[in-house]
Amino acid sequence: MKIIDFHAHYYPDKIVERALKAAIDFITPQTDGTRKGLIKSMQQNNIIYSVGLPIVTAVENTLSVNAWAAAENHDEICMLGSVHINDPNYDKTLEFIQKNNMRGIKLHPEYQNFVFNDPKMDRIFAKCVELDLFVIVHSGFDIMFKPPYKCTPAMLKNVKKRFPSLKLIGAHLGGMRDYENVEKELIGQPIYLDLSFMTEENIEFTLLEKLIKRHDPDYLLFGTDSPWCDQKRVIDLVNQFDISASDKEKIFYSNAAKLLKIQ
Ligand SMILES: [Zn+2]
Repeated sequence: MKIIDFHAHYYPDKIVERALKAAIDFITPQTDGTRKGLIKSMQQNNIIYSVGLPIVTAVENTLSVNAWAAAENHDEICMLGSVHINDPNYDKTLEFIQKNNMRGIKLHPEYQNFVFNDPKMDRIFAKCVELDLFVIVHSGFDIMFKPPYKCTPAMLKNVKKRFPSLKLIGAHLGGMRDYENVEKELIGQPIYLDLSFMTEENIEFTLLEKLIKRHDPDYLLFGTDSPWCDQKRVIDLVNQFDISASDKEKIFYSNAAKLLKIQ
């Protein structure tokens, strides 16, 4: 079975040590945090592509983050771009991302300090629709932040309702550790949910399996959150789901390939 990891991270060599150290009190990285380290893990697990998710945490870093992402967008890594809510040149930023064959953007409202359905985001969502860029957003609990969280399942649903043609992906099943609201707001909606970090410390297997069986299999994506979660652990989970081989193929590969425009 071909596999694409739709949710992975690695860091520029210059900052990798700092990035891993900042998190080490909370969580143990499963790779060395570099591109090489991610590719090594991919090879061990027969993953043919990983989607790299950078974030622009301050407007002044917009150019450097997206230029780095563009340079890294080749071979087995499909990089995304990122945009900041206060970017005065958000349209140019998104055009740069699209021109460099990045297929979408990553948003992380906690690190970027905004509320996901803030009306100021509407111009960005509208431009993403125009350029056919998808949006993947962190939703729910994050070990580095305290509630109330700045993206919730209800906010994802609200944005999709207002931008029906926006391709929207909720990371961590659309709401890390907020599964009652995931069930109420998102299951059955035409919103992609990624499975990153859906391991036993974050969700019970029986609940996870119940939720994914009730969601449209065309809207589920295998992802891991590597290096913060071992890629193999999430592969093993998907393999355990009591679903058809063709649904597994959609989750592991073809839903992601469509979004990434991989032939
Ligand atoms: Zn992540």
